[in-house]
Amino acid sequence: MIPNSRPSIGDDELNEVKKVFSSGWLGMGSFVFDFENAVKDYLRAKYVIAVNTGTSALHIALDALGLGDDDEVIVPSLTFAGTIQAIIACGARPIFCDVEENTLNIDINDVRSKITAKTKVIMPVHYGGLACDMDGLLKTAEEFNLRIVEDAAHAFGSNYKGRKIGSFGDITCFSFDPIKNITCGEGGAVVLSDDKLGERIIQKRILGIDKDTWHRYKNEHSWYYEVVVPGLRYHMSNINAAIGLIQLKKIDKFIEKKRKLCRLYDQEFKNKEEITLLDKDYGQIAPFNYVIKVKKGRDQLMEHLKNNAISAGIHYIPNHQQPLFKPFYRRLPVTESIFGQILTLPLYFDMQDSDLFKVVEAVKKFF
Ligand SMILES: *Cc1c(COP(=O)(O)O)cnc(C)c1O
Repeated sequence: MIPNSRPSIGDDELNEVKKVFSSGWLGMGSFVFDFENAVKDYLRAKYVIAVNTGTSALHIALDALGLGDDDEVIVPSLTFAGTIQAIIACGARPIFCDVEENTLNIDINDVRSKITAKTKVIMPVHYGGLACDMDGLLKTAEEFNLRIVEDAAHAFGSNYKGRKIGSFGDITCFSFDPIKNITCGEGGAVVLSDDKLGERIIQKRILGIDKDTWHRYKNEHSWYYEVVVPGLRYHMSNINAAIGLIQLKKIDKFIEKKRKLCRLYDQEFKNKEEITLLDKDYGQIAPFNYVIKVKKGRDQLMEHLKNNAISAGIHYIPNHQQPLFKPFYRRLPVTESIFGQILTLPLYFDMQDSDLFKVVEAVKKFF
């Protein structure tokens, strides 16, 4: 079976994890701080706060902003359920908005039409690694006094107009789950430059305690701590950070290879009238997945691929159609129409060209 995605991990990661085992310190410690510093250098960011999942990163960011009852967050419906659960966990309301047909990124005109007096945050998702219209979103946020929490789960390593996602903007959240651009096994990070908010998130990620465990243990009064704000237990472990440290060293290699595979797919499909490609400038992005739009017979194509030992996927089932989020339903014409067309083909670093051509041949044969 050709998988839809899979992490590229091996002895390098395992050897780094062994160092954690030998140290006897499995929780948050020097590996986590080294990982944060390495990500900080890579992104040229001020604060990089490592947490245990991407969903935690989104939740803790919204929580630190003081989001609560009745506050509205404008968010695309076409995203992973974690994005929406982070909003719900704060007791806030997701206001679902539509996406652009050719990029699957948030439609800024629809965002602007949904801003009310209760709107506090816009949550764009950089779909597939392609950056949203950040200039337009940041300008809109300034105009209406809103915050922007970017769900950059797909976009670690991507650029927007030559600048890395996470190196500018307001609050950027990454995921390092098993299939993301780099993985920690599980992990995430909140990236920002706002000092007050940064310090608050650092406290919140480990139960509202005033100092990171590691620093506490280095103090003379190593037993002393104070609980100062409501907090969560969202910090990253040394085990996960060790995996991330090695993965980060490989990111350029990961990006180059996946760009090459995407361009190969594009080349093969660009003249097929049954398929519409998304607008993507691979020179700018770290591709997370490879999505095509199939005008007719998407489900049959998926079944055909499965019968040919190829795993295709659908990213995502629109959240406004999910049972839990029904109270927030509103009609989203583009999202609803493209949901029947999108298909995610296999893409991962260790994919061979021969695997890709197997996929291409199977798709062509179907039509
Ligand atoms: C993966 C993902 C998340 C959440 O990250 P986890 O680390 O899996 O919690 C959020 N949003 C999007 C778009 C994602 O793909």
